[in-house]
This record gives sequence, C-alpha cells and structure tokens, in this order.
Amino acid sequence: MTALILQVRGLKKYFPLRGRRLSEILSPGTSPVVRAVEDVSFELAEGEVLGIVGESGCGKTTTGLTTLKLYPPSAGEIRFLGKDIAPYRGNQLRNFRRQAQLIFQDPYQSLNPRFTVFDTIREPLVIHGLAKGKELVDRVLETLDIVRLRPPEIFLDRYPHELSGGQRQRVAIARAMVVRPRFIVADEPVSMLDVSVRAGILELLRRFSREAGLSLLYISHDISTVRYLCDRTAIMYLGRIIETGPTETLIKNPCHPYTKALLSAVPLSDPDANRPRTRLKGDVPSPVQRPEGCVFHPRCPEVFAPCGEQIPGFHASTDGQEVACHLYREEAGDA
Ligand code: SF4
Repeated sequence: MTALILQVRGLKKYFPLRGRRLSEILSPGTSPVVRAVEDVSFELAEGEVLGIVGESGCGKTTTGLTTLKLYPPSAGEIRFLGKDIAPYRGNQLRNFRRQAQLIFQDPYQSLNPRFTVFDTIREPLVIHGLAKGKELVDRVLETLDIVRLRPPEIFLDRYPHELSGGQRQRVAIARAMVVRPRFIVADEPVSMLDVSVRAGILELLRRFSREAGLSLLYISHDISTVRYLCDRTAIMYLGRIIETGPTETLIKNPCHPYTKALLSAVPLSDPDANRPRTRLKGDVPSPVQRPEGCVFHPRCPEVFAPCGEQIPGFHASTDGQEVACHLYREEAGDA
C-alpha cells in the first residue's frame, strides 16, 4: 500500500482585515476577517500529484502555503508522514522544512539576482548542514544534471539575468530538489513561462513523482497542465473544495455545477465534441461576507430550496469522485 505523505483535515485560514473599521468600533471583538480557506480536507500519497484548481482568490495558494506551515492555520490539522506538524519548532521544524519545499510561480523573482546558480543551489545544503567541500559541489552538479541543465559545469557561475525563463525555473526546481524533499508545493510553476518551455518543466515534475516518489501539490488555474500532470484534482471555490476525483474522470464527467461551468470555458482538444458553455451570473462573492449555505448558490444555475441555508456535505460516487452539492445528496436519498 502506498504511504500517505500528507493528511489535511478541516483546514481553515482566516486573515484579519487591515485597518480599524466602523463595525469594530461599534461592536468590539467582531472585526471582519477574510476567510481564505474554509474547512479544507485532502490526502496526498507518496509519488502522487494532486492538482488544486480554481480562479484567482479562491484560496488555493493560501492552502498550499498553510500546509507548508508558512502560514499558521486558524483551525484544522496537518499531518506530515503521520505526525501532526502543529507543535513543530526548532530542529523538528527545520527537518520538516527540508522535506517539504515550495516552487514559486515567478522564476524572475524567486532567485536572488546577486547569487550565481552555484550559490543558489548550494545555500539550502549549507542551511540544513547536508554536505560540504567536494561532496557539496558534486551534489550541486548532480542536481543540475537531474533538472536537465547540461552540461552542469557551464551553469555554475551564471547569474539569473544570464538565463532564459525556463532555465531559471529549472534552477528554482534544483534549489528545491537538492535537499531531497518528500513533498513539494508547486504554485503555478509554468504560468509565467512561454508555452514552448512549459512542457519541459511539467515533464520534469512528472518524472520526479513517477521515478523518485515525490509527492506534489500542483496549484493552477490551467486545466490543460493539470490534465497532463495530476493524478487527482480538487476544485476550489471561495475557500472550499467543492469537488475532487481522478483527473481524467473529473474532466470528462464533472458533477458540481461550478466544475461544469469552469470546464465549459476550456477549449476542447476535440473540435467535434459538443459541450455547451455555461455562463455564470455575477461575480465571485467577497470572502469577507460569504454566502450562507452553499457558497456557490448566488451564482448557481441549478440552485434550489436548501442551497441558501445548508452547507452541502460530500457525496462519493462509485468512480472516485466526491462532490459537495445538494443535488447529489437528494439523488442519494439521504437528504
Ligand atoms: Fe448549486 Fe445547490 Fe449544488 Fe450549491 S448545493 S452547487 S447551489 S445545486
């Protein structure tokens, strides 16, 4: 049985709104908060790639950063290799940081412009005390080779401005991989790159998961890259996961009305396929004043009586999908 690397249960992340508001002055203790992540749960197995998909502001990046303990959660539990990471401090936290890495969206900003490639990749080895001397140099060269910057020696003394966008992102990936992590959060790692170099970066990540057993949380709004890379996918809307499932199943047979609308806007590779476009009314509501009941109900084309009052629980289908929608609860006969 494949080992579980990450278990997230009931995760919440709230941010206080900046500035002193009238509501706070009139009713102290009731200051408004941005509820960026609301009751999110998922698991990630060894070597698995889980995509988190949603529009800007849906909470997917906050979810990723909170699972890395870069934000303290407001509630919920995160278990890494079976252990609750909440009490981690000092050496335990450092050890967790080594094993759980982050790849940023923007390779132009994630690299220190004053560091050569060697400095950039060497630094985490020094911070974590993993190698020195010749062993350290060998490990940097080996990692450059793994990320397909070849021959590695010619890249060592280059600065970020001397690299292409794709090469910079490979250096950023090498910096994450050099400490041999078990888990990586990749936050839109190809969205700033030219289309021509995206496939190479995605192929690299896929190889790390397939061959090295690396577990990946791949955050994106781009369904085509998610389809290429991810074993399973979770769709987020306004801080909540509203549908999960095996990626191909979910794309071919979306159940939740929001997933259907999201996918209906994606161009199909098969020009003969006939898929109606669903246009949603209105804008995404504010995460400060979230709708009662189902968060999607003000925009849902299939809204009905209980949707504005009750938060839908998850209904599991036989093909591995789970959908949080009252339509399926009704179908299951347990409403
Ligand atoms: Fe639409 Fe109701 Fe389902 Fe929410 S619970 S997605 S409002 S049908």
